[in-house]
Amino acid sequence: MFIVYIPHVYIRGGYNKWNSVVTYLPFTLFPSPVPKAALLQALAVQTHFNTLVDKISQDPDFLGEALDRTIQADDFTAKLFGIYKTVQQEGRTQSIVMGLIRSDYMVDQREDGTPSLRQIEINTIAAGGFGVSDQLPVVHRHMLKSVGLLEESKRIQDQSRTREMTAALAKAWELYGQQRQQLCLFLSRNIPVIRRKFDDVSRKGSLDGDKRLFIDGVEVAVVYYRYGYMPDNYTEQSWDARLLMERSLAVKCPDISTHLAGTKKIQQVLAKPGVLEKFFPEQPEVMEQIRATFAGLYTLDMGPEGDQTVAKALTSPEKFVLKPQREGGGNNYFGEDIVQVLQAVKGDKRRAAYILMDRIQPRTEQNILLRKDLPLKLTSVCCEIGVLGAYVRHGGEMVLNEVTGHILRTKSIKNNDAGIIGGVTVFDNPLII
Ligand code: ADP
Ligand code: MG
Ligand code: MG
Repeated sequence: MFIVYIPHVYIRGGYNKWNSVVTYLPFTLFPSPVPKAALLQALAVQTHFNTLVDKISQDPDFLGEALDRTIQADDFTAKLFGIYKTVQQEGRTQSIVMGLIRSDYMVDQREDGTPSLRQIEINTIAAGGFGVSDQLPVVHRHMLKSVGLLEESKRIQDQSRTREMTAALAKAWELYGQQRQQLCLFLSRNIPVIRRKFDDVSRKGSLDGDKRLFIDGVEVAVVYYRYGYMPDNYTEQSWDARLLMERSLAVKCPDISTHLAGTKKIQQVLAKPGVLEKFFPEQPEVMEQIRATFAGLYTLDMGPEGDQTVAKALTSPEKFVLKPQREGGGNNYFGEDIVQVLQAVKGDKRRAAYILMDRIQPRTEQNILLRKDLPLKLTSVCCEIGVLGAYVRHGGEMVLNEVTGHILRTKSIKNNDAGIIGGVTVFDNPLII
C-alpha cells in the first residue's frame, strides 16, 4: 500500500529561471530578530487552529453558507466546491482525516510600539517551507559564530519539523492499513511513496468496487497534494483526477473540505462576531486565544456590510489588503491597485470573489538576502512566521494533534506581496529577542 505524492510542476514562476542550473533556495545571510512573546503565542495557539480547521471541514452548513457568494463570483473556488458537493452527495467513504497545515503571522508594530501577533492566513494545502530549509539553522549558527556572536548562535534552534510532519502521514497510512486489516505489513514503517502528476493519475488511476484507489496497479493509502492550489495547476483532466482521488477511500492530505476550510473567505467569516463561538461553545479561553491573533477582516459580499467595506477601502486603500481566493503569493492587491479593482467590481456580485483585510505594518529589520538575482546589500526587510501543525482524526477521535515547528520567511519591505517561488521571499530563522 502506497502514499502517492502529487508533486509541484514547475511550469511558471521563479523556478523556471533555474531549470538549467543547480542553485540554492534563497535565504538570509543572518537570522532575523523575532520577539519571543510573539513566537510563543503563535506556537501555543497552533493545536487549536488544527482543531478549528478540522471542525470547519466537517461542517457542510457552515462551508456552504460561508462560500455561497464566493462560488458565484470565483470560478476556481466554485470548481473545488463542485467536487466537495459531489463527494458529500455520494457519502464520505473515509473516516481517517488528516491535515498538514501552516498558520502564518506577522508581528504588527504599529499600536503604540507594542508588538502584536497578527495572523496573515492559514494554508491547508501544500503548506511548505519545512524540509527544504531544515539545514538553515546550521548555516545561521555558523554565520553568527564567524562574526563572533557566540551567545546569539546558541539561540538558533534545530527543529524536527520534517520528521514530525511526515509522522502524521505515516500515522494516516498505518490507520488505513488497520482499517484494511493488514497491519502486519506496515509495522516496519517502510512506506513506499510514489510521485504522480495529476496527468498520470487521470491516465492510470482507478477505483475498485470499494472505492479503493489504484494507480499503476498499486493501492494508494494516502494522497499528499503538493500541487493543485492554483487554477493553472489544473487542466480538465486534472479536475477529473482530483475528483477521482477525492471520491476514493484513500486518505487525502488535504481532503477537499479541508482545502476549502483554508480559503481566505472562510478566514474572513471566522472573524465575524459570534462565529468562533459556534466552534468552541464550551471553551471560551481557546476561542479568545484564536481570536487574539486575528486582524480586521471585512466581507465584500453584496449588501450594506459589503458596501461599507468598499467605501472604507476606497477612502484609505493604504490601510488594507484586497485578497482573492488564491494561494502561492503574488495575488493580492495593495494601495492604488485596490481602488482600480474595486472600481471595476464594486457594483455587482463579482466583488464577492475578494475579501478585505487590515494591512499589517510589520517590524522592520536589516538583513542581507541571498538570492541569485539580487545584489548583495544590507536591506530593510520584514518577516513572516509560519507555524506548522499536523493532525490526524479517526472518526470522532483526534489521534494526533501537534504543533510541529516553525519557519521564518523574509522579504524586502519594498515588496508588498510575497512568495518563495515567485521570487520575492527567502528562508530565514528567528533569532529570539
Ligand atoms: P498567499 O496564500 O498567496 O500566500 P497571503 O495572504 O499569505 O496569500 O498573502 C501573501 C503575502 O502578502 C503575505 O505573505 C504577506 O507578505 C502579504 N500580506 C498578506 N496579507 C497582509 C496583510 N494583512 N498585511 C500586510 N501584508 C500582507
Ligand atoms: Mg496561502
Ligand atoms: Mg501566504
